[in-house]
Order: sequence, then C-alpha cells, then structure tokens
Amino acid sequence: MTPRSPRLEHHTWHEVKEMAAANQVVLIPAATVEQHGPHLPCDVDNLIVQYYCDECARRRPDLCTVAPLIPFGFNEHNMGFPGCITLGEHTLIELYADVAESFVRMGFRKVLFVNGHGSNPPFLAIACRKVVNKTQAHVGTLSHWDLIADVIRKHRESVYPGGMAHACELETSLYLHICPERVQLQKAVRDVQPRWSDQFWVDLGGFGPVTMVDDWSRINATGVEGDPLLATAEKGRIWAEATIERLIRFMDDFRKHPVKPRRNFNHVPADPGGAKP
Ligand SMILES: [Zn+2]
Repeated sequence: MTPRSPRLEHHTWHEVKEMAAANQVVLIPAATVEQHGPHLPCDVDNLIVQYYCDECARRRPDLCTVAPLIPFGFNEHNMGFPGCITLGEHTLIELYADVAESFVRMGFRKVLFVNGHGSNPPFLAIACRKVVNKTQAHVGTLSHWDLIADVIRKHRESVYPGGMAHACELETSLYLHICPERVQLQKAVRDVQPRWSDQFWVDLGGFGPVTMVDDWSRINATGVEGDPLLATAEKGRIWAEATIERLIRFMDDFRKHPVKPRRNFNHVPADPGGAKP
C-alpha cells in the first residue's frame, strides 16, 4: 500500500471532510519565486516551506494536512534581478485570505501559513486578521526562521547581526540538506552589507528594532546577503529537524486551543431604532 500523501489535494472530498471533522491543522506553505544569488535556484523559499509542511504531515498524518503551495509573494523591491515574480500587495492579501477562508468553509478551524519569504509577513498578518474577523476559525502565520532563532544562533558561523539574510548560510545549508544536486556551491560568494546604524540590521537569526525597506538593486549586486561559503548540509539537517519538531509541537497546542464564542460588551440600546429626535 502506498503511504498516505501529506497533500490535501491528493485526497477525495470524503477524506477531506474526515480531516476537517478530526480538527486537523491545515498548513499552507507560502513563499515566492526570486533570485537567490549565483549559487542557488530561484525556488529556495518555496522548496523550504514545501519540505517543512510535507515532513510535518508525513510524520503526523493525524495532526495536519498540507494545502497547495502559494508560490508567489511580494517582490517588487527585487525586480531589478531576473528570476523574480511579484504580486501586488492587495492581490496577495486577497489571495491569502481567500485560500485560508476556503478551508474554513470546508469545516477546518485551524489554519496556519508557513512562510518562507521575508517580505510576505505583513500581508499574511492582514489576511489572517481578515479571515479571523469574518469566521469562527483560528488562522495564524509564522516564518520558519523565527521558530528556531536560538538554534540558528547556536550553530551559525556568520557574523551577527546582519550576516545571515538571503541566499546565506541558513538558506544554502537548508538547500544542501533538502536537494544538494541543485546547489552550485562553487559559484557562491560572500556579501555582507556594512552596518550604517546600530538600530538597523536584517538577519534571519533576529531582526533589528527598525524596519527599513529598500530596493535590492540599490544596495546589492550579487543577490546574496550573508555568507553561503559557511553553509553545510549538516547545519541544514540540524536546523530543519529543529524547525519540524517545533512546528509539530506548536500544532499540537494550536489544535487544542479552544475557539471561544465572540462576546459583545458594548451598550445595547433597548430601542432598536436608536435615539429619538
Ligand atoms: Zn530566500
């Protein structure tokens, strides 16, 4: 007998109904297609979140199922490089919200976006709020590196802060673990931007207090932000296993977390017609 597929769309509607009735968590992998320097393919972010979601559902088919990947993200600032696809911010919010709400309409009550692209979180957060405000479900989002910030710091060799942001030690190690044959490590270059303020840095091991956005082509010519030369498959295995373990642990809590009824503490006028003139 072939093993049960972790992907929701590989099942019949009867089986999907059973998953909803069992209060399974729907994992929605969401990332992007974008350049990742001279040594990695453009699918890095998608590959990583798809792997994490599939592994969770393979290991705990009782706990979760995997929605189709949302492969497009917000990338306007990266369009100076070939290989990038971007969606407008409103399109993206509506896309996320519509997909999540579809699962709620099937009867699922726990939906979790697993994000792999650093520019998606604000749009994901708004989409989650839209669905939560409109339905009875719990809808959440996380970026995979945030789950293991402490584990990243324990094993990284890149400088902190600012030495691990894009096509870096983390992403290259994860790709080496998941699909080493597509990594062209001989083309990897180190590119770490100089710090221009002690209040601003971008680092997947923990961001600085100030959020700044800039067009990538203005500050970078390699497509790398970090040091992929420090990447190894073994680090990728350690970080991936820690992420999967914590994601499963969170989903165990998430599934048990009760969906409480809404309450209205506002003054409710006795006269439904409102104040008389
Ligand atoms: Zn990336």
